[in-house]
Amino acid sequence: TTPRTPLMAGNWKMNLDWKQGLALVEELGDQLKGFDTDKVETVVLPPFVDIRTVQVAVDAGKLPIAYGAQDISAHESGAFTGEVSGAMLKALGATYVAVGHSERRQYHGEDEQVTGAKVKAAFAAGLTPILCVGEPLEERKAGNHVPYTLAQLTGGIEGLTAEQAEKIVIAYEPVWAIGTGEVAGADDAQEVCHALREALREQYGDVVADAVRVLYGGSVKSSNVVELMGKADVDGALVGGASLKAEEFAKIAGYQ
Ligand code: PEP
Repeated sequence: TTPRTPLMAGNWKMNLDWKQGLALVEELGDQLKGFDTDKVETVVLPPFVDIRTVQVAVDAGKLPIAYGAQDISAHESGAFTGEVSGAMLKALGATYVAVGHSERRQYHGEDEQVTGAKVKAAFAAGLTPILCVGEPLEERKAGNHVPYTLAQLTGGIEGLTAEQAEKIVIAYEPVWAIGTGEVAGADDAQEVCHALREALREQYGDVVADAVRVLYGGSVKSSNVVELMGKADVDGALVGGASLKAEEFAKIAGYQ
């Protein structure tokens, strides 16, 4: 259990065109009717091309759903073909953006320098970054998961003010648990989520460390979310596959 407002974020990845996205968000809105957003924050991260549709649906139905993007350009504007800026996302009513998802790190060569720049770009545009960190299997096997993940945190938050650091969301996603059906044990999740919070405490002090939401991600489902959320330093979940079904994702968001 967490003294912070839990956050359940659905990462659609490269799934659902705008029509399918619309159907999902409307169904999710139905499922979450009467949901108290002070108790749990529900967020969807659709592909860029679905965001306008999600915005219209959320506004029209006053749905208790926040939304954002899966990535952001590190640059403000200009000659960066194929990129999407923070200001463009902000203009769509987006409030969150994932930064440094392991698939971005793995397939798009994003390193700590890139994630650090993207975190700053998100803040500059008034968005809340969800900085994703987590170790691959070989680092876990070598017992190196904590230092590996903390190094990604250090790179991602470099140069942030305490005010910014207080707002960031961190998602601990062990790479071996993403999309594999292999969920980290709740104690494993707690170990790293706690280490992340303590690293923030060391760098920024108690106010920041006690405010930041640290999520767990990796094969979260309605059947394992309760146990994960029972851990002191787990403040929510970043959900891939299970966020593509409205009923299942609503169950995760309504885990209490
Ligand atoms: C993710 O992509 O962030 C993720 C956690 O995926 P899944 O829930 O499918 O493992």
